[in-house]
Amino acid sequence: IPSSLAGKTFVIGTDTTFAPFEFRDAGGELTGIDMDIIREIAKKQGFAVEIKSLGFNAALQALSSNQVDGVIAGMSITEPRKQIYDFSDPYFESGVQMAVAKSNSDIKAYEDLRGKTVTAKTGSEGETFAKSIADKYGFTVKSLDQSATMYELVKSGNAVAVFDDYPVLAYGISQNNGLKSVTEKEKGGSYGFAVNKGQNPELLQAFNTGLGDLKSTGKYQEILDKYLKDPT
Ligand code: GLN
Repeated sequence: IPSSLAGKTFVIGTDTTFAPFEFRDAGGELTGIDMDIIREIAKKQGFAVEIKSLGFNAALQALSSNQVDGVIAGMSITEPRKQIYDFSDPYFESGVQMAVAKSNSDIKAYEDLRGKTVTAKTGSEGETFAKSIADKYGFTVKSLDQSATMYELVKSGNAVAVFDDYPVLAYGISQNNGLKSVTEKEKGGSYGFAVNKGQNPELLQAFNTGLGDLKSTGKYQEILDKYLKDPT
């Protein structure tokens, strides 16, 4: 245990609902892959964490203004973000995909989005991707702060599609959330734990060491299996 961290408490920001990475269990407790990873690493590396369920964009803002020490939120490691944050080693491969309402048989490709409204999360890779093709396919992007409200917008027909991370869409769809995917996954970045640039280097180091340990002991796989194997 690195003595510099012993007894310290770090404040960690996360998304509200981004299952299976962070969500509330039946008892209202924050749970998920990210939560298990950060808590397990903290335990093994000898520091404490105080998790703040802020929402994705709010968590990034909080990190920029040093109101939190780190963010774990299914956050993709991207070049623009690397300019302002320091990232850990990648811990999960992801990317963006489109989903539509289960009952929708009109939207089968990006070409079908012409004149329509889609939704994506403020500040997310899904939003960046949707905006990058919006002009080409002639659709409008309505940004919202939470995955749950994005999905509701699609189910109510106020948006025809949502762009979100495919492991999250797949998890929701497997739980019959009323959506389906109709297009291929887009290639995307991996998730990383982030600290503000130049801040908390010892926390970042401890995360990487801890992640390596979780992988070599099989605990990392155990965490993934807990949420991804037969998630019902
Ligand atoms: N992986 C996506 C991103 O980093 C979305 C993260 C999220 O919605 N919590 O932008």
